[in-house]
This record gives sequence, structure tokens and C-alpha cells, in this order.
Amino acid sequence: MSESETIDIVVVGAGIIGVATAYYLQKNNPDKRILLLDRYLAAGQANTAMSAAAVRNMFASSTNQLLTDSTVKFIEHVQEELGFELLFEKCGYLWLLSEFQFNNESVQMWMKRMEKSGIHYKVYNKQQLKEMMPGLNVDFTGSEEAELMNLKEVDYGLFGGDCGVLDPTRYVEFYLDEFKKMSSVKPRFGVNVKSLILEANPKLDLPGEPFVWQDKNVTGVKTDKGEIRAECVVLATGAWANELLDPIGMDSKTKCKKRQLFVVHGEDNEGLKEILNAKGFNELGMCPFVILPSAGVYFRPQKQEHGFWIGCGDKLGRAYKYVQTDEDLIPESAYYENSMFPVLSTYFPAFASTRPINSWAGGYCYSPDAIPLVYYDCGVLVVNGASGSGIMKADAMGRIADALYRGEPETELFGGKKIPSETLTIKKRNVEVESVVI
Ligand SMILES: Cc1cc2nc3c(=O)[nH]c(=O)nc-3n(C[C@H](O)[C@H](O)[C@H](O)COP(=O)(O)OP(=O)(O)OC[C@H]3O[C@@H](n4cnc5c(N)ncnc54)[C@H](O)[C@@H]3O)c2cc1C
Repeated sequence: MSESETIDIVVVGAGIIGVATAYYLQKNNPDKRILLLDRYLAAGQANTAMSAAAVRNMFASSTNQLLTDSTVKFIEHVQEELGFELLFEKCGYLWLLSEFQFNNESVQMWMKRMEKSGIHYKVYNKQQLKEMMPGLNVDFTGSEEAELMNLKEVDYGLFGGDCGVLDPTRYVEFYLDEFKKMSSVKPRFGVNVKSLILEANPKLDLPGEPFVWQDKNVTGVKTDKGEIRAECVVLATGAWANELLDPIGMDSKTKCKKRQLFVVHGEDNEGLKEILNAKGFNELGMCPFVILPSAGVYFRPQKQEHGFWIGCGDKLGRAYKYVQTDEDLIPESAYYENSMFPVLSTYFPAFASTRPINSWAGGYCYSPDAIPLVYYDCGVLVVNGASGSGIMKADAMGRIADALYRGEPETELFGGKKIPSETLTIKKRNVEVESVVI
């Protein structure tokens, strides 16, 4: 790379959001020279690779329903119609809920909004759940541990059959391969963007510019390999957005939180095999992605590995960070042992005799309302704040980012539904607060 070069659009960050955005920008602006870059040595190696890669359209806010429903349908289209293997398995999502939780206003509202948006779901009662998942403990009578841990008994299951799991690396490859076929500029890896270049517009070439009274624009990036000038800088840097936006005085409105996954195998454990092979939920004869009623603990089936990935969407008590740090990449075995394991093994006792054989950690990039942020301001197109569900929103976010770039007032999502392109901006935000964050 030369000391300073000029390009039309530079996309910083090649996670799932960056590659989806680069793909739609190139597809709809074929004459533009678009450079995709990342500081990692390959695409999709940061939080995208750390994710549970589960996808659902079951959200409470109509905005997230729209973003995820269209993205999940696109994922299905890529696999089924375009024949690109994403290892997408439609195993479904199952929320286990107590009677109180099920009747709670927010859950009732969630179900009503899904009906209104045409999102299919089913409700199972306790008896049905017992039959379909014999390994699930639905009776805590006399359990001092359950009482001590404040665990709620399971009375209902809220199930979404259009949801599933996939391989995030394959999904990244899909967009990247398609982007590379169209683009005249080769993506670059191992390039760290150190800062955004903010300049006066117009430039007067006076020392000390830009002054407060001047209009200003981001006109490129400074990297460890030289300067890149661009008419538009796309920031798809997820949990690191603040690092680049703060120094130029732009508030990204995001913060991050550490999330961890622990892998348990069940080849030699009849109880775990029975849970993994739960019948009746889907055509695959496998257990869905399960969310327990208490403490935010969940598990994702991993059929190829005969096991589960276990995670926890903890809330109060674990710190938010301003940007993700290296420490957030280190899983904590004590967190599994003391926080997740006691909960998990009370609901599903078959987990009691096994311990994780692998684990990893990463970060969620939260927006204040748990709805993504996509806005184009002063030469920067920011695409982030997916709030722990970026894989399942990436396609819609990429399309919206491209529509904003082209000045299109409406974005057509996969499947034909439309959304005003400014819905996810900061200035003209028009969203409901999301309550179903895992
Ligand atoms: C444990 C865990 C479980 C999750 N489970 C799910 C799930 O089941 N379903 C789901 O949809 N989502 C899930 N998520 C969230 C999902 O992983 C993210 O929403 C998604 O990966 C965000 O994509 P991204 O492209 O914004 O971020 P990233 O994949 O983190 O990509 C950002 C990229 O920007 C690059 N970058 C940052 N700063 C710079 C710089 N200065 N210069 C150059 N490059 C830079 C980084 O190297 C990185 O590659 C989970 C996340 C975690 C941690």
C-alpha cells in the first residue's frame, strides 16, 4: 500500500456487518471503488466468530422483527435457493417460562406484536414440554437450591419454528466471495485504522483547521500502513466504534458487554443425548435453542459435535465497557461453575455430570434501545449496535446502510417489505425499545 491513496468508499471492519454492507454497497454502486479492510488477518474473526450464531425472528419490537425476519429468510434463500451451504439448521427457539412470566404484560405484548407482523410461534404447556423433553425438570417442589437461587418453575414454552442456528464463518464467506466477484479492489487484512481524518469543508488551508465555525467532514482514515482518502468511510467496527468516533467528537451511543460460551459434549451421556435428540420440535429431530426462565442461561444444540454451547445473557452485576478489551476475550471457568452451572443443572439434571471441554468469550455492542444504529453523518456511515444479534440482522443492516449512502428514503428488505431508511439513525430514530435481548 502506498503512503496515501484515494478510494471511493472504505469499509472498516470485516465482521458480518462489514461484509454484508460492503456487498450491498458494491452491488448497488457498481462504479464505486470499495476497499474492505480489517485489522485481523481474515474476515469474521472477531465477535462474529465468537457468536452462538443462532438466528431468530422472535423479537418484541416491530423494528427488530422486520430486520431479523428478512435476514433469516435471506439466510434460508442463500442456502436453499443459491445452494451456498451455511449449515443453517431450522431447529427453532424455545423460551421456557413460568406462569407469571407467560402472563406478564411484556410477554403478552411480545406475542401480540409477533401476530401482527405475521411471525409464527407456538405455545406448549407443561405437560407437552415434559413429553417432548423428558430431561427437563418442571417440578422444583422441595428443592432448597431452586428456592435459594430464585429459580422459576417451567409452566410454558414459547416456540418459534422459523428460527435456527448456522455457521457464522460460512455466512461471512458468502458475502465476502460475492463482494470479491464484483469489486475491483482486493480486501486488505492486517490493517489497523488508527484514526479518522476530519477536515474542514471547504478547506481554507489555514493552520489549525478545522475551526469550530467551519463545516467538517470525515475524508479518510489513518492506518498503520498509511493514509486512505475516501468520499465515504463506513464504520462496521462493532464493539470498537467508540475508539474511532470519540476522538472526533461523534457520540456512537454504544457500549459493550462481555459474553461467554462453554461447550459441553454428550456422546457418553444418555441424558444429554436424549435432550439433544428431542423429538417433535422440528423436522431435524433435534432440540431447539433453549432459553431458561431464570438467570439468562441458554443453550444451543450442536448436533455435529453431539453437544451444546451454553451461554448466559446476564444483566445486573456484570460491567459494561466503553470498548471491548483483550480481557473480554478470556472466558472465566468460575463464571460457568458458580453462575451458569447450578441453574442449568437444576432445570436439566443431565448436565450435572459433565464439564465444559472448550470455551471462548467476546462482546456484545449495545445500543440504548437494543435496536441497531445505521446512520450517515459528515462522511461516516456507521453500522453497529446490533446488541447481541448482529448475525440475524446483518442482511437488513447492510441493505439499509447502502440505501442511506444512495440517499434512498426507503429500503427494500429481502422478501419485499420496506423500511424508511432513516429508521435506525440517531437524529430521526423511530423505534420501540427491544425487551427480548438474550
Ligand atoms: C458469546 C456471543 C454470543 C453471540 N451470539 C449471537 C447469536 O446467537 N446470534 C447473533 O445474531 N449474534 C450473536 N452475537 C453477536 C454477534 O456476534 C455480533 O452482533 C456480530 O458479530 C456483530 O458483527 P460486527 O461485524 O459488527 O462485529 P465484529 O465481528 O466484531 O467485527 C468488527 C470488525 O471490526 C474490526 N475493527 C474494529 N476496529 C478496527 C480498526 N480500528 N481497524 C481495523 N479493523 C477494526 C475488528 O477487527 C472486527 O473484525 C453473539 C456475540 C457473542 C460475543
